[in-house]
Amino acid sequence: MLDTLRRIVQEVTSAENLDQALKIIVARVKLAMGVEVCSVYLKDKQRGENVLMASDGLNPESIGNVRLHDAQGLIGLVGEREEPLNLADAPSHPRFEYFPETGEERFRSFLGVPIIHHRQPLGVLVVQRRADAPFGEDSVSFLVTVAAQLAGAIAHAEASGGISGLTSGKGRRARSVEPLQGQPGAAGVAMGTVVVCYHDADLDTVPDREVRDTRAEVKKFRRAVAAVSAEIQAMLERMASVLPVEDRALFDAYLMMLDGDSLVGDTIARIRQGNWARGALRDTIHEHLRAFDAMEDAYLRERAEDVRDLGRRILTKLAAEGPVEPRKFPAHTILVGEEITASMLAEVPIKRLAGVVSVRGSSTSHVAILARAMGVAAVMGVSDLPVGRVDGRKIIADGYTGRVYIDPPRRVRDEFRHLLREEQELSKELSDLRDLPAITPDKVGVPLYVNSGLLADVSPSRKSGAEGIGLYRTEFPFMIRDRFPGEEEQCQIYRQVLEAFSPAPVVMRTLDVGGDKALPYFPIEEDNPFLGWRGIRISLDHPEIFLVQLRAMLRASAGLNNMDLLFPMINSVVEVDDAMRLLRRAHHELVDAGVNISMPRVGVMIEVPSAVYQVRELARRVNFLSVGTNDLTQYLLAVDRNNARVADLYDGLHPAVIRALQQIVDGAHEEQTPVSVCGELAGDPVAVILLLGMGVDSLSMSAANLPRIKWVIRSFTQRRARKLLKEALTFEYTHAVRNYLNAALEDAGLGGLVRAGR
Ligand code: PEP
Ligand code: MG
Repeated sequence: MLDTLRRIVQEVTSAENLDQALKIIVARVKLAMGVEVCSVYLKDKQRGENVLMASDGLNPESIGNVRLHDAQGLIGLVGEREEPLNLADAPSHPRFEYFPETGEERFRSFLGVPIIHHRQPLGVLVVQRRADAPFGEDSVSFLVTVAAQLAGAIAHAEASGGISGLTSGKGRRARSVEPLQGQPGAAGVAMGTVVVCYHDADLDTVPDREVRDTRAEVKKFRRAVAAVSAEIQAMLERMASVLPVEDRALFDAYLMMLDGDSLVGDTIARIRQGNWARGALRDTIHEHLRAFDAMEDAYLRERAEDVRDLGRRILTKLAAEGPVEPRKFPAHTILVGEEITASMLAEVPIKRLAGVVSVRGSSTSHVAILARAMGVAAVMGVSDLPVGRVDGRKIIADGYTGRVYIDPPRRVRDEFRHLLREEQELSKELSDLRDLPAITPDKVGVPLYVNSGLLADVSPSRKSGAEGIGLYRTEFPFMIRDRFPGEEEQCQIYRQVLEAFSPAPVVMRTLDVGGDKALPYFPIEEDNPFLGWRGIRISLDHPEIFLVQLRAMLRASAGLNNMDLLFPMINSVVEVDDAMRLLRRAHHELVDAGVNISMPRVGVMIEVPSAVYQVRELARRVNFLSVGTNDLTQYLLAVDRNNARVADLYDGLHPAVIRALQQIVDGAHEEQTPVSVCGELAGDPVAVILLLGMGVDSLSMSAANLPRIKWVIRSFTQRRARKLLKEALTFEYTHAVRNYLNAALEDAGLGGLVRAGR
């Protein structure tokens, strides 16, 4: 059963559209369970109905025509109860509703299970038999497993089906495109054209792309096939003397596939319909893989790998011919991908980048943080986005609510244009605050700093009115290179940043890779990367890398003396002691070599729970603390900051996080150590009211958020913030905290800062 299930899921996942996915489901489930009927009903949310979308066993004419309103019939009952319904004699059930066009009166037993994706009911999966006996426990659990496994694939196919149906003119269905739901990544609204990021060597990530000159594209494809043929022929000749004849059959099979009509002919037919060779090849290979995968014979199923291999080889040849034309980034480019990396972002000219949409990740993923630093909207974790089918499409990415609209109708476009105008007005109002100090009406100063990591964002940071850099993430320059940068190279990067802000302070954090921040040239394979080798752990295990960085930082600060050092991911005093020892060593080495530099101020990040409980011991050892609320929230709540599935659970206003923050601030102040907050919470207007009430000494955030936060600081007295904090600490629910603080913002006349959709 497991094997059957795996194969069904695989086939459905690679289906080209919703119709195909549903047809596969009903045919395979019917066969696997040995039943007479298998059908799928999907919800039409607009009309509040369940529609028979596919069936193997019911009258084909009824497909698309049988519609039951939400509370109607046995299908409605399964949807309501959100549980399986197993009946020996369905027609005798009071809720049974008879549709003569289905011909289902012949079938007595009925098993229906709900299809639920992210807590949302999508529809019902049903099997029926003539026999009037209930289904056994095995059958029920099999169908429940199938429905649970397929819910994501169905949601995905529903999204792709809707989109391709509306744009290609084929299979057009009268249905409106609903927005796809992801997580807010970076505030703002982006309206523009999609450019899909894909890997040249990965068939699965190749997007569709329209070509006009299909003849030239066919020629290019034939050249690639001929090149692969020649390559295999050469292999065969080389192996001829060592391989027995029967093993050579594999190469012959490859050559036959390249010669025959199906693989080559099918791809050419697809190119002639207007898709580029790579997209056409992807569809052909996927179709072949489905056919192989459905085979009962294990040996033949294994041959699927050969087809995939051939596909990869042809793709490599196509990619080697270079892109059709140099990669173009239109004005208002919205970068879309399964997973967008820092280097992909860096490829787009900054003036052309309007937004980022990623299938994976969440608001605290580093790509989202980068997007915020660059002032572009981002939506993360849009798991149902059909990446392969959206290249070149018009799209709206709403970074406030996490919604994505593909080819939006005019009404939606107008709405968003209005929102953009409002935004521009708000930022104009906020820009008037630029040169005013961040001081509360009762004269408490809360210096505001920016988070940075790219040279490109030094200038927006300066323009934002920041008093310095509160967190410079040194890993970003490491991430966009293809090797560790040397001491001199690093020194120059750091020097530019320190000079740009001098005499204002810059807090430089030592390398914080691992977790979700991978260096392409330093791969780390771990089961639980966020609990593994990351941050200071790597630096302490590799003093040769750490010392180079420390020396580069110290040398960069010579004569400027505006650098503070920060150690990430500290989990015990031992790590601080060890890091300090290496810092002192680097300093001595430089002083011995005649470089005149003073020791910087040193801080540690409080971002793991153990550090919260040892905050006083840590505070005693350093000059300042900086709270990394992104990681602290992740570790306190045990919610992966990048996992879209649990993103709803990730919230820095969770009462437990608020209490931990209070404990950190109190502990640090008992040791007379200042404490700053540099995680994303410092850029959230409602959270800042609480941080002000706690007495946090400074805040660091993305440049784009700084003006709003200054507005909050200038609008709330610390006295009032303390009162609000006291009340907020009594709440048990996260949403209650947020509602309460949103109301406080509205009362203070800052309603424009209340985030939509939260
Ligand atoms: C944090 O964890 O809050 C933080 C500022 O560090 P990073 O986001 O780089 O992990
Ligand atoms: Mg962190």
